[in-house]
Amino acid sequence: MADHAFDVVIIGSGAAGLTAALNLADRFKVAVIAKGGLSEGSTAWAQGGIAAVLEEGDSFESHIEDTMVAGAGLNNRATVEYVVESAPAAIARLEELGVPFNAESGGLHLTREGGHSHRRIVHVDDATGWAVQQALETAAFANPNITLVPDMAAIDLVTGRHGERYSGDGRVWGVYAVNRKTGHVDLFTARATILATGGAGRTYLYSTAPRGATGDGIAMAWRAGARISNMEFMQFHPTCLYNLEVKNFLITEAVRGEGGLLKLPQNVQGGGERFMPRFDPREELAPRDVVARAIDHEIKRLGLDYVHLDISHKPPEFVMGHFPNIYKRLIDLGIDITKQPIPVVPAQHYTCGGILVDLKGRTDLPGLYAAGECTQSGLHGANRLASNSLLECFVFGAAAAAHIGRHFDEFPAPPPIRPWDETRVTDSDEEVIVQHNWREIRRFMWDYVGIVRTTKRLERAQHRIALLRQEVADYYGNFRVTPDLIELRNLVEVADLIVRSALHRKESRGLHYTLDYPEMLPQAVDTVLVP
Ligand SMILES: Cc1cc2nc3c(=O)[nH]c(=O)nc-3n(C[C@H](O)[C@H](O)[C@H](O)COP(=O)(O)OP(=O)(O)OC[C@H]3O[C@@H](n4cnc5c(N)ncnc54)[C@H](O)[C@@H]3O)c2cc1C
Repeated sequence: MADHAFDVVIIGSGAAGLTAALNLADRFKVAVIAKGGLSEGSTAWAQGGIAAVLEEGDSFESHIEDTMVAGAGLNNRATVEYVVESAPAAIARLEELGVPFNAESGGLHLTREGGHSHRRIVHVDDATGWAVQQALETAAFANPNITLVPDMAAIDLVTGRHGERYSGDGRVWGVYAVNRKTGHVDLFTARATILATGGAGRTYLYSTAPRGATGDGIAMAWRAGARISNMEFMQFHPTCLYNLEVKNFLITEAVRGEGGLLKLPQNVQGGGERFMPRFDPREELAPRDVVARAIDHEIKRLGLDYVHLDISHKPPEFVMGHFPNIYKRLIDLGIDITKQPIPVVPAQHYTCGGILVDLKGRTDLPGLYAAGECTQSGLHGANRLASNSLLECFVFGAAAAAHIGRHFDEFPAPPPIRPWDETRVTDSDEEVIVQHNWREIRRFMWDYVGIVRTTKRLERAQHRIALLRQEVADYYGNFRVTPDLIELRNLVEVADLIVRSALHRKESRGLHYTLDYPEMLPQAVDTVLVP
């Protein structure tokens, strides 16, 4: 087993992981591992932009209020204030790193998105995440203290129970990971470990998230003994392209922000009608959960495959100028958005819950930090406000790094760790079972734990999870571990956490809507699962 010793090991090479690495690298040797290519997380896929108060007339108070309104009162106000007030400095740092934000005379060009009461979204055309990811990677590559390790899929955190001398104190010393190139398990040890593994969107059949969004960090932290919170709050993006081949192309919120209208398709009763005014006075600019439920309602009511998002009433140069990426992608699929409406469906988009962290990015376990979409920091509450999530990655990636920097000398050095048991050398000849189980989870999570829930549906899902858990445990115990099996094991874990959290909440709030408890309770309380 290859053994790698660093000061800090970071699992995840998206906005949160690379921000943490860059903030640590002036003093520490840092490893950043990623289970595939470095740019394969959600960060590179972000289109809309990053929220920050940068214009006269806007205020921190307004951004805080918008975030709290979207979060249906469940946000932690101290976290919201901290993140919102840190935003301008985070944007300035990204500019220093060379992110080419769109500018206009007098400053950065700002767009507006659903739920924001001001224009406050900085962006790089409609491919902001890609530009951010490239700038962070370039800076990380250039730093001799950062070792970037792609194709290294973390299996489980190393804790005291993996030491040659057993310790039950729960301290985390690094991670075991399967090296895709060798097929063997490597050990990464460090005094501090940061989970920056992104969300769990691929628990659902339709998701805008990349294939690797299987909640690995959340599952690993839970197995190691950390509390997990608010997993019932899964955000469904209202407008994912409906296309039989391309199942996860997001049509950014900004299309509605710039005047795009949601309409019923022409071939149904009421064809061409705008339906959002029937659901909410904010119409197309209502928060995502409201828009997603309205679309889901219309699709189910009329038996549709999709609804239309139409921006063709705007001048073609305006449409192409604001949305060059979407324009090009859809032209290739035969849709000219300057002349035609876009067929759209809701799809899972963002994981609001996750590993419970404090303002320093600390988890329950000594030596373990977490940042970004794998966490529940208190920022999003029951629903994330658009463009607050990249921001959370920059703020908490830096906060975790700062805390580690201040306390590193107090952290004990890792003890000798037992090597991974490689006696399970049998390769499974049943890859088809992994694929089948993966598809099954995603299907029943979509059907039973989606936009509109009931207790009965959740219990059905729970029953299926219990069966799958047994099957996957047998499989995991008997065969050589592979990246696909790791992901399946984590999907089962995360699906269980989502369903348990949803069953625990006896009300409808934000993104969690159940027909059995349609009202919101007077008091907003986090769901906290304790291992
Ligand atoms: C289509 C789309 C559009 C979006 N648009 C916006 C937007 O406009 N504005 C906004 O603020 N947010 C947006 N978001 C959300 C935002 O992109 C994400 O919340 C954010 O990028 C998450 O960053 P992260 O660093 O936490 O994780 P990610 O960028 O997802 O990175 C996760 C990393 O963890 C690694 N990893 C995971 N599991 C393992 C493992 N077992 N072993 C090793 N490595 C592992 C992955 O390889 C990857 O490197 C969008 C999301 C999507 C999907």
